[in-house]
Amino acid sequence: RSKDRGGGVFHAYEPQLHAEAEERRLLELALRKALERDEFHLNYQPVVDARTGDLRGFEALLRWQHPELGLIPPNRFIGIAEETRLIGAIGAWVVRTACMEAARWPAPMRIAVNVSPEQLHQPQFLNIVADALGDSGLDPSRLELEVTESVFLREGLGATKVLEKIQALGVGLSLDDFGTGYSSLGYLGRTRFTSIKIDRSFVRNAASGTPEAVAIIRAVVAMADSLGMATTAEGVETARELQMVQQLGCTCIQGFYFGRPLAVADARALALRNGQAATSAVA
Ligand code: C2E
Ligand code: MG
Ligand code: MG
Ligand code: MG
Repeated sequence: RSKDRGGGVFHAYEPQLHAEAEERRLLELALRKALERDEFHLNYQPVVDARTGDLRGFEALLRWQHPELGLIPPNRFIGIAEETRLIGAIGAWVVRTACMEAARWPAPMRIAVNVSPEQLHQPQFLNIVADALGDSGLDPSRLELEVTESVFLREGLGATKVLEKIQALGVGLSLDDFGTGYSSLGYLGRTRFTSIKIDRSFVRNAASGTPEAVAIIRAVVAMADSLGMATTAEGVETARELQMVQQLGCTCIQGFYFGRPLAVADARALALRNGQAATSAVA
């Protein structure tokens, strides 16, 4: 309808566009102050061994608690942080905070930290990681950085080289949300990922009986096996999904079925309970 009005097309949508731009501007302003105001914290989601149910570690997930806007989920502010380059300072805080906390857990309990492409391409990034390890005393093998396929979109900027340098520190690398982005298999031959994280959309579809999703998970697990990489099934919510990804041979499992992202003290308590004894985290 608005098409008929020619020049009115833009006009018709303007109020909504305006509201979105306004919200973005508001978030950006707030985000610029969030670090110094100490408004960030991390939650830690359990990652368990698919066969034994033993707790292997946690993924650190960033949370922003704003005094007036409330709890803002990462999907609403990571993009803004990337565009404004605030992600550099925020990401450095995440790496440091996560390493400090993980150093308090019993070895070899691991910590996974999400890293944006923008961060990876910063010249200081390697030093940030090395300093976080040095200052916390965390063994590098207990840290794993998670990147998505999108880092390879800008291969011109040398993603493979940076990833190699990270690995040279002894830090693990995992490929997050596998299968949802720019999936070229070429880079899997160049970068030795510790693990591939299979996106929860495949887990969901496989368990609800979509044969293609089952075939894809089976193929990814086989490929990872032959490349010497582990696989983590993301977003496992039900017993049925658990059974499916166990049958398909995934190495590790993460999802609400085992645990939501936990507050720092709860994660620490779980880590300490499951450390030495290596008791099963699966009920
Ligand atoms: P991700 O790295 O793939 O993290 C997993 C997301 O799935 C988390 O959402 C987690 O809470 C959610 N999740 C885990 N298990 C389940 C499940 O069983 N069902 C469902 N429906 N969801 C589940 P969250 O915490 O909202 O984070 C969203 C994304 O934000 C993350 O996806 C990651 O890409 C990004 N992110 C989070 N923290 C950071 C960070 O510190 N730095 C950067 N650069 N990105 C981050
Ligand atoms: Mg992740
Ligand atoms: Mg993921
Ligand atoms: Mg994701």
